[in-house]
Amino acid sequence: MELYADIILPVPLQQLFTYGIPAELVSSVTPGMRVYVPFGRGRHLTGIVASVHKNKPTEYQTKDIISVLDGETPMVLPYQLKLIEWISRYYLCAPGDVMKVLLPGGLRPESRQTAYKPKTECFVRISGKWETAHPDTVLEELKKHPKQQDILRKYYELSCFNHNDNSYKPVSKRLLQEQIESKSALQTVIKNNYLELYNVEIGRLPQYRGKLIEPYSLTPVQQEAFEGIKNSFKDKNISLLYGVTSSGKTEIYIKLIKEQLEQGKQVLYLLPEIALTTQIMHRLQQVFGDKLCIYHSNCADNIRAEIWQRQLSDNPFQLILGARSAVMLPFRDLGLVIVDEEHETAYKQEDPAPRYNARNVAIIMASMCKAKTLLGSATPSFESFANAVWEKYGFITLNQRYNNVELPDVQVVDIAEMQKKKYMQGLFSPQMTEAVREALKSGEQVILFHNRRGYSGTVECKECGRVQKCSCCDVSLTYHKNSDMAVCHYCGRKYKVEHVCPECGSQNIVERGYGTERVAEQLKLLIPEAKIAIMDSDTSKNRYEDIIRDFQDGITNVLIGTQMISKGFDFDNVSTVGVLQADSMMNLPDFRAAERTYQLIAQVTGRAGRREKRGKVIIQTRQPEHEAIKQLEANNYRAFFNNQMEERHLFAYPPYSRITTIKLKGKYANKVEAVAESLCCILRKHFGEDSILGPDAPMVSKVNMLHIRSIIMKIDHKINYIQTRQMIDYALSCIKTEIQNQDIRISFDVDPL
Ligand code: ADP
Ligand code: ZN
Ligand code: ZN
Repeated sequence: MELYADIILPVPLQQLFTYGIPAELVSSVTPGMRVYVPFGRGRHLTGIVASVHKNKPTEYQTKDIISVLDGETPMVLPYQLKLIEWISRYYLCAPGDVMKVLLPGGLRPESRQTAYKPKTECFVRISGKWETAHPDTVLEELKKHPKQQDILRKYYELSCFNHNDNSYKPVSKRLLQEQIESKSALQTVIKNNYLELYNVEIGRLPQYRGKLIEPYSLTPVQQEAFEGIKNSFKDKNISLLYGVTSSGKTEIYIKLIKEQLEQGKQVLYLLPEIALTTQIMHRLQQVFGDKLCIYHSNCADNIRAEIWQRQLSDNPFQLILGARSAVMLPFRDLGLVIVDEEHETAYKQEDPAPRYNARNVAIIMASMCKAKTLLGSATPSFESFANAVWEKYGFITLNQRYNNVELPDVQVVDIAEMQKKKYMQGLFSPQMTEAVREALKSGEQVILFHNRRGYSGTVECKECGRVQKCSCCDVSLTYHKNSDMAVCHYCGRKYKVEHVCPECGSQNIVERGYGTERVAEQLKLLIPEAKIAIMDSDTSKNRYEDIIRDFQDGITNVLIGTQMISKGFDFDNVSTVGVLQADSMMNLPDFRAAERTYQLIAQVTGRAGRREKRGKVIIQTRQPEHEAIKQLEANNYRAFFNNQMEERHLFAYPPYSRITTIKLKGKYANKVEAVAESLCCILRKHFGEDSILGPDAPMVSKVNMLHIRSIIMKIDHKINYIQTRQMIDYALSCIKTEIQNQDIRISFDVDPL
């Protein structure tokens, strides 16, 4: 009987690949095993066996699997195979794309040479013949060879050899070599069979050496929320903890984790961005020590491979703290998944595929593992909030800050009015400047939030209005003063700043708009004693920790940053928070713009006054009457949610619908347009006029020399998504030849953010 295996290969095609199983491999090829297969001309790939069957493909000749890379146990667990399938179906991407984020690089070698090998160290011990001999006997043997005798003497000393029970401590070759004079004598001792070498696998993973402390005891309201969560899990698999900033959500998580660990269960704790959350990391380490492991895509491949294998071993980490890719790790006995700051867009992978949302994948993965999911946030996404209100999720509210510290006092400043009165100094209203000055005078710290990195918005000719643009993208460049370059924030290309306008020859070039660099420069002029740090995506990742530490230690006292600084920071001494331009987010042409603005500002606001004293927040805006601003002032997220949901309902936006964006890219605008038009037509016939929008040229319609057209599908949330997917597949098959002939690339973004 011939057997075949369907294999997931790391190629961007919507399919599995069938290979024959040679007779000698029949017993070792099982689902989840990694196999090595020929692919294309002379190429080889590592794949994962998805299933084994007897159906010989009829259309083509199969090739055989070359070898199996795994020993007894498969590298990928059965539920993970289902997860790969689910992600590729739901997010309309290739199983191979999912495989690439699932398996760390070290575990999917391009060739057998680059395969991950456990790290080993070489040790020495007395070889078999002399194992039980008394050290004196052995040394006596060597009395004519003093150099060799020295080595044995040293070995006995280092290994604390005990002749009574033959016990000894392992001695590494490296250690022994450091302590002896003659390396050649060591070779001789080994050659003459007095000592022998052996290899031991050693971990690459760092170990926690700090001291452990007991978790804090919960306050009565925290305890109530903790009990509430556990209660909700009796009949719900997913619960939402809606707790204001600084209410102690982390402490509640810690209690929940502790209970799971005591029952021998594993916990996955997801955070949107690891590099910025060293504070939570240290807190968890203090409580859970070596039971905790940190996993994210910036870890070296070898480390990630080692963590993976440890999770498959008999001694897995019980607690994994990780960014989105940690949902892909294997768990054998998962009890709980915590998704902290669940509203964060960083959970969504934008490019490349798979464009998955780790929060949603976590929910699916947890249910496959029969585990519970807890979502937590002070400003939940409308999707999750709605599910909680509609009682699909358990719903626990915590509206008191720890220590009963009041939420900060929010003051809204109308920029337009201040401008009319000529009170604005750059981006600073007198109220803002005064608040910063006051705080610094009292030895407190300030966080200023500004949503644009770089120095200025655009580089513009004052005479003719020409704006310097990227030659590969349809976007204006952002001036970065530090490097004196104009940078494209879409493709990253850098340009020299034009000092003479190529259009009209004028030398009157100005920088318009304000980025973080320019805000810092202005503040320095207004308040010279301010010690300013900037944190945005231009800051290199390995500087994050230093910047955070310096701010924590008071070496700097004003932190200016983009949305990066809205996340999970907990600084004792920050009394004042300023939002310089709320409008930059509010005005984006996106139905989520208001939701985003509220979330972002509420999160930065939450950084103010986290200790005894009430904090102060100043929001500068041109639209003080905007719903988001009004409810931020009143600190009423629920009222804001209710108001916005009416609008979402009216226009059939999520959570009342599911959105999928289809992007078509190609070299020639007219061809992309034509293919997009045909696709739209087919989709409209099936889903109806109102559900298909486009094709449109997006705001930035050309990136990296490719023209883009997009189609938006807005499908009622009650319609089964699998049917939708099948319909899309059908539509694509109809225009397959067109796509190939015109060399058009199509990508999908399901539930885009
Ligand atoms: P959240 O995650 O809700 O914003 P945190 O969990 O970061 O809030 O808590 C805010 C601060 O209050 C932290 O410094 C935390 O250590 C402290 N805290 C919260 N609950 C307790 C508690 N029960 N005992 C001692 N300190 C607490
Ligand atoms: Zn000009
Ligand atoms: Zn560009």
